[in-house]
Amino acid sequence: MDNSRRIGALRRKLNRAGLQGLLVTHLPDVRYLSGFTGSSAALAITRYKARLFTDGRYKTQAAEEVRGAQVEIASSSLSVAAVQWLAAQPAVARAGFDPAVTTVADLARLKAALPGKLRRSLLTALDEPLVMPLRQVKDSDELEILREAAQIGCRLFDHILGVLKPGIREIEVAAELEHQARLLGAEGMSFETIVASGSRSALPHGHATTNPLPRRGFVTMDFGIILRGYCSDMTRTVYLGSPKQQERRAYQSVLEAQLAAVEAVRESACCGDVDEAARGILRREGLADAFTHSTGHGVGLEIHEPPRLGAGQSARLAAGIVVTIEPGIYLPGRFGIRIEDMVHVTRTGGEILTPSTKALIEL
Ligand code: ZN
Ligand code: ZN
Repeated sequence: MDNSRRIGALRRKLNRAGLQGLLVTHLPDVRYLSGFTGSSAALAITRYKARLFTDGRYKTQAAEEVRGAQVEIASSSLSVAAVQWLAAQPAVARAGFDPAVTTVADLARLKAALPGKLRRSLLTALDEPLVMPLRQVKDSDELEILREAAQIGCRLFDHILGVLKPGIREIEVAAELEHQARLLGAEGMSFETIVASGSRSALPHGHATTNPLPRRGFVTMDFGIILRGYCSDMTRTVYLGSPKQQERRAYQSVLEAQLAAVEAVRESACCGDVDEAARGILRREGLADAFTHSTGHGVGLEIHEPPRLGAGQSARLAAGIVVTIEPGIYLPGRFGIRIEDMVHVTRTGGEILTPSTKALIEL
């Protein structure tokens, strides 16, 4: 991992924001910048130094993992220790913190730990996040991991096709996906596995239940793994039995919408336009109201990262971002269908990282 490049890019952003220091407490940001994977840390960065604060349990791990920052074991609040360190650095007049991850109570505690004259002046809420925009654009090491994570997802899908049959419970399907994921090297699942069958497929977030799979009907499976900290995310919807004409047609509409949105992915594409590529097709099919969420989201160290590919989103895609493309339709009491790929944004288009077939599979 080349975190000197990452910290260098962050320091340029700090300069431009008129700040001499930054408090980083969001753990995925800490990991991205320092390499530390533990669950207790705060990172303080100035123009010339970086220091990672963690507790005694992580002494050995931090020494092994952290690059580009000195490690300090702190016994009290880590963010307080980090802010006090920032306050003691020469030439740090203003230090930023991310208001999206710092509560009002946290801030009061941090300020109370500072010498009186710094209480009002040192800590500054960032106008916009500084680390997330860096994290959004993946470097080659990250892309390699995301590719591998996505491929494991595809292998899980292949495996589960041999398991699905009427009568087995949704939770058995989820358990099998999760068991196999571990055997294939996953550290865990990136979110609670969704297995929604029959009329339950009309629930966009249908967590697996003890319901048996029906003799006839759709089964939507949305699952992802964590590999070396990075998340995968994919959805396939298959059919048990033989679909009715209208079900087949609905599936084709979602597939067409998904393919159109993948086609719209490229560097500089507007996120709202990618969403509209999918939404327009479902609208034409009379299914606009059944598509109740955004077309996709960024994915990386977190399962949901910016950008959001939703209606009216004006952000533009940069090469190196990895997004999901996952239109779906949900017809309450009847059925639902979602198809989701991970797509790497390149200069010339979108590279699909989850190439499992999307043709309707009938089992
Ligand atoms: Zn998903
Ligand atoms: Zn997703």
